[in-house]
Amino acid sequence: PAKGSPLLQVEQISKRFGGLVAVNDVSFGVKAGEIVGLIGPNGAGKSTTFNLVTGLLHASGGSVTFNTENITGLHSRAIATRGIARTFQHVKLLPSMSALENVALGAHLRSEQGFVRNTVNAMLHLERKEEQELLNEAARALTRVGLQHLMHEQAGNLALGQQRILEIARALCCDPLLLLLDEPAAGLRHLEKQALSKVLQELRESGMSILLVEHDMEFVMQLTDHIVVMEFGAKIAEGTPEQIQQHPAVIEAYLGG
Ligand code: ADP
Ligand code: MG
Repeated sequence: PAKGSPLLQVEQISKRFGGLVAVNDVSFGVKAGEIVGLIGPNGAGKSTTFNLVTGLLHASGGSVTFNTENITGLHSRAIATRGIARTFQHVKLLPSMSALENVALGAHLRSEQGFVRNTVNAMLHLERKEEQELLNEAARALTRVGLQHLMHEQAGNLALGQQRILEIARALCCDPLLLLLDEPAAGLRHLEKQALSKVLQELRESGMSILLVEHDMEFVMQLTDHIVVMEFGAKIAEGTPEQIQQHPAVIEAYLGG
């Protein structure tokens, strides 16, 4: 998709859990080559929105269009193979495996074959040549995020900031068009946040599109092109970082006056 063309379009999406409306009639878009921030207080419906986009949850109403295709109701695997990759709110690495193996395994589990077997032992059943291709692809993903020098380190020995970037490398391994990152900067120190921000800016420059949930306002404001604000399941504002910082409803609801 050409830079600036619509990539993801969420239209009037809703999700009810029994009597609770976790996401209420929310619409927003991500254009190709853009970083969009999804912000709002705890319980606002941000992670649920991610789960609706990636197919982990099925919407009670509304639609999701990706790369001109209606993907509403597709299974999460089908959505992943169309080019949407994600990381989760909590690190899910295998600490005793190397950085390279973590990325290669993640890529394999997301490949068509991996989905069929879906086991950590899957790597053992690979042909030598397939394994080498996976490792090459993993090395390329690590290079893209600047972690190539750490590829043989055990994932568990890396600093938290490096582990977060490693998770992003793992998500990059199927050549996605859109990355969804759930609180990538949470718990990181200032310098680690800066390093993460630089990686995400470089990905954007290479054409990647990113949707991220994040609580650190400084991080969101300096990184994103567009911000969507949710509260109590509904979208209460959207705009550029400058517009959002001056938006009365946002200041009241979220930035604490
Ligand atoms: P956020 O990520 O913005 O903090 P969530 O999307 O996790 O918010 O949650 C939105 C609301 O939906 C919350 O009130 C939460 O308790 C509720 N919720 C989330 N997932 C479920 C679920 N699987 N079952 C029932 N309620 C849920
Ligand atoms: Mg959340």
